[in-house]
Amino acid sequence: NKYIVIKHHIENAPKESHFELKTGTFALSVTPGSDDIIVKNLCISIDPYQINRMKSYSSSQNATNFTVPITPGEAVDALAIGKVVASGNAMFEKDDLVMGVFTWAEYSLVKEGSIIKKLESSEFPPLIISEFWNAYHFGPFFIAGFGGLTAYAGFFEVCKPQKGEKVFVSAASGSVGSLVGQYAKLMGCYVVGCAGNQKKVELVKEKLGFDDAFDYKEETDLNSTLKRYFPGGIDIYFDNVGGEMLEAAVANMKAFGRVAICGVISEYTDSGKRASPNMLDVVFKRITIRGFLAVDFMNVFEDFLAKTSDYLRTGKLKVIEDVSSGVDNIPSAFVGLFNGDNIGKKIINLAED
Ligand code: NDP
Repeated sequence: NKYIVIKHHIENAPKESHFELKTGTFALSVTPGSDDIIVKNLCISIDPYQINRMKSYSSSQNATNFTVPITPGEAVDALAIGKVVASGNAMFEKDDLVMGVFTWAEYSLVKEGSIIKKLESSEFPPLIISEFWNAYHFGPFFIAGFGGLTAYAGFFEVCKPQKGEKVFVSAASGSVGSLVGQYAKLMGCYVVGCAGNQKKVELVKEKLGFDDAFDYKEETDLNSTLKRYFPGGIDIYFDNVGGEMLEAAVANMKAFGRVAICGVISEYTDSGKRASPNMLDVVFKRITIRGFLAVDFMNVFEDFLAKTSDYLRTGKLKVIEDVSSGVDNIPSAFVGLFNGDNIGKKIINLAED
């Protein structure tokens, strides 16, 4: 069984050398009646927030208050989809498809508590199954379950958009950002995104239908950049990056604007980039700044799934996946998130054809 560990805690930007590929022997059998379940991982979600779990306790106190730290030398746990190979637990049997918190590994030994959901085909809209099942990407399960819910709940529930409002989205070609911008367009908003290179900018404008987009790495003064794209100000900023982009966005918000803090990826690897928006702006413009977690919004999951599957079926919404294969490629896939290598949802595919 091949699996990936962190060699030590990671305090700044992750490098491939911080990770190690290990091989262990793994009995593919369990004791009947035990709670042991062996899962063959088919698809692993690669997520930026994990870096906060890789820090040592002293440098990540705030993060670890909310998440369980990753221990060096142990397989990194992560959201994944797999197939049950053997189960001592009567709730699961061989060949069941399951989604849960498994590991960066070929096989994971888990308990019932790690399994979030048994994937019954009937529970998911047929289109979601058919369009992606054969590709073995399983992306929509992640997208439907997490990235998508994050985008949907963050935009509709946290930002409370109105038709015609001006919306700005950072990391616009990413898993969450690409969906936020499309939901905003479907709502009738004016949407501008920013991304880290020209190829992403083109994709966001041409394929995803944003009204405009720019490469933030080419800009020297983000404050005046945003003034150029939003001469009348921003109603909604959906923030995936934090740092100076958040500061510039706050400076350009309209009165009663809403800022949803979904994530602050630029700050995850560099605490020196911590945003300090002008709070006088926040007061006088009565701006709402609200952080949120997708898990807070399970109440809108059904609504999200119904609307999103309809948008997918009618071609109104496009899902972008960025798939690599093999356990060996997990470290580079993860590191790539922080270099902007991915376009869309980063997934590791371990399924056989
Ligand atoms: P993405 O698919 O957007 O991938 C990460 C992208 O972030 C990169 O491709 C890169 O795009 C951009 N990025 C990386 N480093 C920086 C930097 N220093 N400054 C600016 N941009 C950077 O990831 P996700 O969609 O999965 O996640 C987006 C954000 O949402 C993250 O902050 C994540 O932690 C958060 N999140 C929050 C959830 C919640 O429940 N609140 C749930 C899921 C995600 P580019 O080339 O454009 O720079």
